[in-house]
This record gives sequence, C-alpha cells and structure tokens, in this order.
Amino acid sequence: MGQVIDKKYNGLSVPQGEKIRFVNGKPQCPDKPIIPFIEGDGTGADIWRAAKRVLDGAIEKAYGGRRSIAWFEVFAGEKANKEFGDWLPADSLEAIKEFGVAIKGPLTTPVGGGIRSLNVTLRQVFDLYACVRPVRYYPGVPSPVVSPEKLDVVIFRENTEDVYAGIEYPMDSAEAKKIMQLLETFGKKVRVDSGIGIKPISKFGSERLVRRAIEYALAKGRKSVTLVHKGNIMKFTEGAFRDWGYQLADDEFPEVVVKEEKLAKEYEGKLPKGKVLINDRIADSMFQQVLTRPDEYSVLATPNLNGDYLSDACAAQVGGLGIAPGANIGDSCAIFEATHGTAPKYANLDVINPGSVILSGAMMLEYLGWNEANELIQQAVAKTIQKKMVTYDLERLMTGATKLKTSEFATVLIENMG
Ligand code: NAP
Repeated sequence: MGQVIDKKYNGLSVPQGEKIRFVNGKPQCPDKPIIPFIEGDGTGADIWRAAKRVLDGAIEKAYGGRRSIAWFEVFAGEKANKEFGDWLPADSLEAIKEFGVAIKGPLTTPVGGGIRSLNVTLRQVFDLYACVRPVRYYPGVPSPVVSPEKLDVVIFRENTEDVYAGIEYPMDSAEAKKIMQLLETFGKKVRVDSGIGIKPISKFGSERLVRRAIEYALAKGRKSVTLVHKGNIMKFTEGAFRDWGYQLADDEFPEVVVKEEKLAKEYEGKLPKGKVLINDRIADSMFQQVLTRPDEYSVLATPNLNGDYLSDACAAQVGGLGIAPGANIGDSCAIFEATHGTAPKYANLDVINPGSVILSGAMMLEYLGWNEANELIQQAVAKTIQKKMVTYDLERLMTGATKLKTSEFATVLIENMG
C-alpha cells in the first residue's frame, strides 16, 4: 500500500506510505502515513526505540494490520551535526514540511553556535502557533498534592508571540537607547541602565490560538475554555488577548459557547449539553485555582509566558513532569515532542523514563484520528504505573515498586494493552 516517493532526504529514501494532507488546518490521515521522526540527543535514542515499539504495538493491536506508520528518520541536533556538519539540515526541514506531522525526542541546544535553539527554530519555521500540553493524573504516580486526580486540563499556549517574539536588547545597546528615546517622546521614562524587551500580542495570533482551543473543547466534549491573562496590568496585550478571545467566541461560535454571566442568568449555573463555557482568569489567580479548585477547569488558553509557567506547574502537580507529553501545532504542520531535555548523563544506559515521548506519540495518534490506539496506550500507562512497574525516576519516589529499564517498561506497556 502507498505511493513510492523518489526524492531522498539527507541521502535516505522515503519508505513506502502516503502523505498526510491538511484541509482547513486539520490533518487528513491515510492508513499508512509517512511520519518523520527525530530520535533526539542524549537519551533520545533510548526513549525513541522504546516509544516506537509501543506506538507500533498499539496500532497493530487497535487495527490489526489495516493501519501502520511508515516511520522516516530525519536528522537534527548532535546526530545531524556529526553526520552532516549541520545542526538542522535543510533536508530535515524539507521532509517535515512535505509530510506535515513529525515526532521528536529532546535536542541539545548548541551553546554559542549559530542557532539559538533547534526547538524554537522548528516552531518558527513551521509557524507552530499552539503549544498543546495535556495534563492528567495517572493513579500511583507520586504527587505533591492531596487530590492530584482532580486536575485534568489541556493547556493551549500561544507559541510565536509575547516573550517568544524574541525582541530584546541589552542594557547600553544602541537599540535599547533608541527605544528609550522613542519612549521619552511618549512621555515614558525608563531607567537608563535597563535592558529592553518587547512583548507583542496580536489579534491574529490570539484569535487563532483561542479558536483552536474552542474547537478542541467542542470536539472532545470538554466543558470549558478559560482565557488566562494578566490583563489587569497589561491591558493592551494580555487584556486584549482576553477581549479578542471573547469576541472570537461570540463571532464564530455563538450557538455553542456560553459566557459565565449568561450561564448564571439563563441556565441557573448548569451548562447545557453540547455547549462550552468560556470564562477568564487572571494568571496569578489561575495558579491558585489549579491547586485549590482544579476540577473546575478543563481547557486553558493563554499567551506565551503565562502558559510556560502554567504548563510545568500543572505537570508538577500531578507528579508527571518526566512523563508530560506535548505538541506544537500549526495549520499545515504539527510536531509532537518529549517535554523534558536530553538528560545526557543517562544516555545509552537504558534507564530513562520514555513516558513523555510515548504519550506525545499517543497524542499524535489522537490528533490523526486514531483514537483507539491512543486509548490503548493511555490505559496501558495507567495500568503499568498502578502495578508499580516503573523506571528509576518514579521507583525512587514509590514504596514497593519494581524498577524497570527503559526497554522493559516499553515491553510491559505492550503486554498491558487491552
Ligand atoms: P533535562 O535533560 O530535562 O534533565 C534534567 C533532569 O531531569 C535529569 O537529570 C533527570 O533527573 C530528569 N529527567 C529528564 N528527563 C527524564 C526522563 N525522561 N526520565 C526521568 N528523568 C528525567 O534538563 P537539562 O539537563 O537542563 O538539559 C539538558 C539538555 O536538554 C540541554 O541541552 C537543554 O538545552 C536540552 N533541552 C531540550 C529540550 C527539548 O528538546 N524539548 C527541553 C529541555 C532541555 P535526575 O538526574 O534527578 O534523575
């Protein structure tokens, strides 16, 4: 099955399969999609080897050979630098662009080199504007809170603006001085020994992020979308994010989205079936709400910096930083990735937890519409952790747990499917 693609990338032939196409920002997945993968640096090889077995195992179990993935290795990071003298070869970018959906392990950020971060570069090149981080609890994972199971949120964090715009100038630079002079003409004075950063938040960027969050909530039957902002202080960036988000909900989803005041007035506080509540919270309040009333929140849509903090804080709350999955999604490309780094001291020891890249892969399957395979992985992870069969990082925090190698953890997951 599948077409033969003649073109080579990084000297490698493309395996037989079909391209995923995007229609209106949504992937149309064939039964044998070609999916590029970047193994990742440091522990990347260990976790990718394990993840591939688990993903293939779940697909086989769910679809019995009717569906499979034609995995295609593309290179980035240390492996690419070693083989091609390039941290991010043009062919790797070309292949991801061509095939649309990719998955990656962690990449070393080259220190003092030309590229500031491979991850940031990938997000910018493909305009992956939504960083999506689902955070849920797997029973048995050691957590610092009393009821970690109450938190089940999906965070949509804007990925291209705000502090990720990368507009920043050091103290005493010509640029910083010039901006200060300009500010003086507006009657604003900044201390002369200041570094200057610019925080742009656009209507376009806010709308497409909030649109994606609402569409997700509707598709998944989630009850609410909360706009998280610091609009009480920054009215024309963070506050505007909230206003544009509400306006978009009114304009594009008038029949299905209900604001908090309307919920109280017209529906006596009870959300009708098929509708999604839209509300907003100030970022600092949101941090205490996810701790004190986590079950009141479901999908969170946020500008970049709030989302950065909130994603890790929520993941830590369920004890799952080491197994937290993530994705960077745009309208014609999506890259799924482990959220931790390369953990180089454990490289090639077959000890590290592959959970993050495995669950990112499961998220990818769900995104492609292969939810049966995703569910098999979710259930297997839950079952395996509950049986206290875990890698060193969780074993050291549990009593009576069995410590597994990376490869053994993958094997047990496959055994625990279905
Ligand atoms: P790190 O690689 O995430 O490792 C820090 C510590 O976190 C590890 O020593 C380990 O703790 C724990 N850890 C990380 N991954 C784990 C896993 N899969 N299973 C169990 N424990 C895990 O962070 P870093 O040392 O700051 O960064 C190393 C390199 O990764 C840097 O070059 C950085 O730029 C890069 N990085 C890449 C990404 C990405 O590609 N998305 C993200 C972050 C960092 P213990 O030693 O306590 O066991």
